[in-house]
Amino acid sequence: MKTPIYLDYQATTPVDARVLEAMLPYFTEHFGNAASRNHPFGWKAEEAVDTAREEVAKLIGSSSKEVVFTSGSTEAINLALKGAVEMYGDSDHGKVKGRHIITSLVEHKAVLDVCKHLEKNGCDVTYLTPDKTGRVSVEQIAEAMREDTLMVALIWGNNEIGTINPIREIGALCHEKDVLFFVDGTQAVGKIPVDVYADNIDLMCLSAHKMYGPKGVGALFVRRRQPRVRLVSQIDGGGHERGMRSGTLNVPSLVGFGEACRLCRENLEKEMAHTTGLRVRLEARIRASLDEVHLNGNADHLLPGCLNLSFAYVEGESLLMGINNSLAVSSGSACTSASLEPSHVLRAMGVGDDLAHSSIRFGIGRNTTEEEVDFAADRIIETVKRLRDLSPLYEMALEGIDLSSVEWAGH
Ligand SMILES: *Cc1c(COP(=O)(O)O)cnc(C)c1O
Repeated sequence: MKTPIYLDYQATTPVDARVLEAMLPYFTEHFGNAASRNHPFGWKAEEAVDTAREEVAKLIGSSSKEVVFTSGSTEAINLALKGAVEMYGDSDHGKVKGRHIITSLVEHKAVLDVCKHLEKNGCDVTYLTPDKTGRVSVEQIAEAMREDTLMVALIWGNNEIGTINPIREIGALCHEKDVLFFVDGTQAVGKIPVDVYADNIDLMCLSAHKMYGPKGVGALFVRRRQPRVRLVSQIDGGGHERGMRSGTLNVPSLVGFGEACRLCRENLEKEMAHTTGLRVRLEARIRASLDEVHLNGNADHLLPGCLNLSFAYVEGESLLMGINNSLAVSSGSACTSASLEPSHVLRAMGVGDDLAHSSIRFGIGRNTTEEEVDFAADRIIETVKRLRDLSPLYEMALEGIDLSSVEWAGH
């Protein structure tokens, strides 16, 4: 077993060897421009892009005409939100109109930052507070809807805590109210069953590097029937991707993206069982040896490979320093940037600063083994025990002293 153990699959995944193999010929032998219509080099590239588009579509239940390739989810989010506001924001296209957007406080920064940008451009954004497990309810969405609501923008599986939102139900409500439904599917696609039509989704982003494909490519699903969604392009210059996203396509990476989608589709159930099993094993092993462990997330609605735990009575920095050499994980404080702000997600869920700082996100993936999970659990147990042995607070808690009632000297 090689250390450090990689348990950060929500940040990015390794490229699957089969994906890399599929990509390689498209750097050298088949290097054509997919937009070159006059010769076999171009045709070969175009054919490869078509195949990739088919594979993306098959994985998400759309038609290939509804797949717009981008540089990743961040760009797809920009196109979806800004593109819809520009298209529908002030004119009346059917019943969809207005500049009100409903989102949540636990979105990825890509959605939150685009929303902030749109607010500066005259949009009104409602940021819903999720429940304690990080979940948004259909009722909350219904309550927030107004006459001028243009769009609901919501994360499917949360990248920090793994909580899964009730997408299908919220989508049904959106369609009933003629409101566009954008879903950030980056962590969900390839990990749980996704069917954009059954799930009532109008726009959805996905990213290759979160599903064993290469970095720098992704897609936006843009629905073409009931309703047909139109967007104003955000990158102009040549009219590629049905005029929604210009620029020469990254053929090798798209070939990899397509292959990654195929592998996810063909192995979905097997992989869900694998990662869920390891997640359950990891949590059980940790809990068997440690008390005061808090799950950040929704135990009933959790991404298979995501486990976010807080360890009371340990200091976050010391915890990370104790495991850093052996485990590659993310913490509830460092993940946003180099700053020590607690994560905006944990804060929105009402997790206190101390618990937020001591939170660890374990990301389990395709290549994770039982041996690695056991090793990770043991490192965590060891480190938390050692830190708690040094903690007067933990000692007091063990003695049954209510810490909130203690009057500290100097206060
Ligand atoms: C990684 C991630 C993004 C950003 O995706 P990129 O392709 O890296 O731009 C957006 N949303 C979620 C939920 C993510 O996990």
